[in-house]
Amino acid sequence: MRARIVSPLAETAAGAVAEAVIRACIHCGMCNAACPTFQLTGDELDGPRGRIYLMKAALEGEPFGRETQAHLDRCLGCRACESVCPSGVEYHRLLDVGRPFVDARSPRPWRERLVRALIRWLTPHPRRFALALALGRLAAPLLPSGLRAKLPAPPPGRRAERNASAGDGGRRMALLEGCVQAEAAPQFNAAARRVFARIGVTLAPAPDAGCCGAVSFHLDDVPAARRFARHNLDAWDRALEAGAEAIVVTASGCAAFIRDYPDLLADDPAYADKARRIAGLVRDPVEILEQAPPVAVWPPAAPRIAVHEPCTLRHGLKLPGRVERLLAALGYQPQPVRDPHLCCGSAGPYALTQPAFAAPLRAAKLAALTEHGPTAVVTANIGCWLHLSETSPVPVRHWLEAVDAVTSPDRGPPASS
Ligand code: SF4
Ligand code: SF4
Repeated sequence: MRARIVSPLAETAAGAVAEAVIRACIHCGMCNAACPTFQLTGDELDGPRGRIYLMKAALEGEPFGRETQAHLDRCLGCRACESVCPSGVEYHRLLDVGRPFVDARSPRPWRERLVRALIRWLTPHPRRFALALALGRLAAPLLPSGLRAKLPAPPPGRRAERNASAGDGGRRMALLEGCVQAEAAPQFNAAARRVFARIGVTLAPAPDAGCCGAVSFHLDDVPAARRFARHNLDAWDRALEAGAEAIVVTASGCAAFIRDYPDLLADDPAYADKARRIAGLVRDPVEILEQAPPVAVWPPAAPRIAVHEPCTLRHGLKLPGRVERLLAALGYQPQPVRDPHLCCGSAGPYALTQPAFAAPLRAAKLAALTEHGPTAVVTANIGCWLHLSETSPVPVRHWLEAVDAVTSPDRGPPASS
């Protein structure tokens, strides 16, 4: 399918990406069966093929309006469609061009703009988010039940313990602290630091690195996303010069977004090369741990778990089954999970902006995760953790906490080594 992208977009790297993605699509429709929103509505325009047609028409200069924007807004960006596409269509790269193009030309109602601006103002900034969390917890009894359920439980342990360095391994890697995760679930990175110290790797945050920019990007502020990206690239460049060999990201949503920095900054001559180089050094923890030397392991106290594989881990970073295999090798008994390719409905800010879609997707995901009676669900992304924890009947944790639990020397003499 050829596309005649309008100028001046056609002359940019983003225009070339959009044209190439549209050209690769052979309209077979196989992607629709894997698409969570198509499954919910049955509307062709809520599936990947229909959305490709909508974006093609918009990028070619045909008139469009709020209806096109609504169908694109409903897309989770989960990339399940990419995993089944026989033609290798990189749908998300087209979405990353088409959605901002439509948003820039289709003004939203003031309520939507206000909600989006509020999320953008709050979540990428840890201090603001921490203050909002503290106020929310104080006022919890007065909050409506829907809002109260969104407050994450206070993290375990004292702040000093959570933030403490876990020793000085021989190898060094930079750890992304993140924005929401740093305040809502600091125990995730604390577990990462301890686990990595046991394999001889010191994880230290790169001073000045912060939000990856995904929230701004997905909520109509691409320039802000680029600012976050440049800021992080400079910070990681300094960390790499100081001896870090990789950038470890414990939130798969952030890692997948950082891997796309080369597209985000393709037309920035000062950062395009740096974005390509550093994006190639981003690692999910599982990629490091599965290569690590053996360590002492204790049998898990509650081995029956269910692994929720975020779309960003499965379809974005393309690491399906890896966390499950690692946990099984450590003595856990991951239970079968139906339809693991389907999104839980979190998708960054999607759970806040599209609650009518996010809620049924979460209900279906939790039913699949708990079908075989696990004692806990483990996941790899802060957004999924927050979204699932709201209504999950069993505790939801980061999978690194499960690794930490069976490799901690506090447990006494090991069962094996
Ligand atoms: S499966 Fe791939 S080629 Fe077929 S319609 Fe979907 S995106 Fe196009
Ligand atoms: S990214 Fe996910 S929600 Fe969007 S079209 Fe593809 S499968 Fe559907």
